[in-house]
Amino acid sequence: MNNIPSTSIEILKRLLRGNKQFIQGKYEAKNITIETLKELSDHQNPHACVLSCSDSRVVPELIFEAGIGELFVVRVAGITLGLNVIESIEYAIKKLHTPLLLLLGHDNCGVMEYAQKTYPDIKEDFKAILSSVYPVIENDKTALNDENKLAKLHTLWVEKYILNHSRIIKNAVLNNELYIAKCHLCHNSGEVSLLDDNLEKIKLEDI
Ligand SMILES: [Zn+2]
Repeated sequence: MNNIPSTSIEILKRLLRGNKQFIQGKYEAKNITIETLKELSDHQNPHACVLSCSDSRVVPELIFEAGIGELFVVRVAGITLGLNVIESIEYAIKKLHTPLLLLLGHDNCGVMEYAQKTYPDIKEDFKAILSSVYPVIENDKTALNDENKLAKLHTLWVEKYILNHSRIIKNAVLNNELYIAKCHLCHNSGEVSLLDDNLEKIKLEDI
């Protein structure tokens, strides 16, 4: 395991603190007015890149209590992968130097449900989306019966796929410039939980 950059951990803690505020109904996001947009009119310096589902219930800025300019968000159905998605993340890493990439799966994801219904058929419709989920089912057939388990396994698979297909992201991780956090949003509690085994070593209890 590579060292996890301290900056990445601090930003992860900040986002999880924001999530706690959201859950407790103490939402106090700053930097959400036109003034912030004006200040950032010709530049941006986001803290983190978030890959989240397009699902209307998964809104990273709200669940992490973040304002304008704080998160570089790539949203795509089921956090499924394709070249444009990977290159969008690469832009955040290489050009904006974000030290944290947060992969955010969630409960009751329509893509997971659809993949469970159609597996193992590949049809013309939604071909790219299904191609990103089927390898996970192929690897663990028990995921066919548990939608949220499939979403979590898929989020872990997304990290592996990105590292295998992006030199820019892989090098950033190897050079201790980036940490990839795997997370899952529970709809009923609003809680974003960490799927990272590696983070057991890190004291997150003071969030
Ligand atoms: Zn979804």
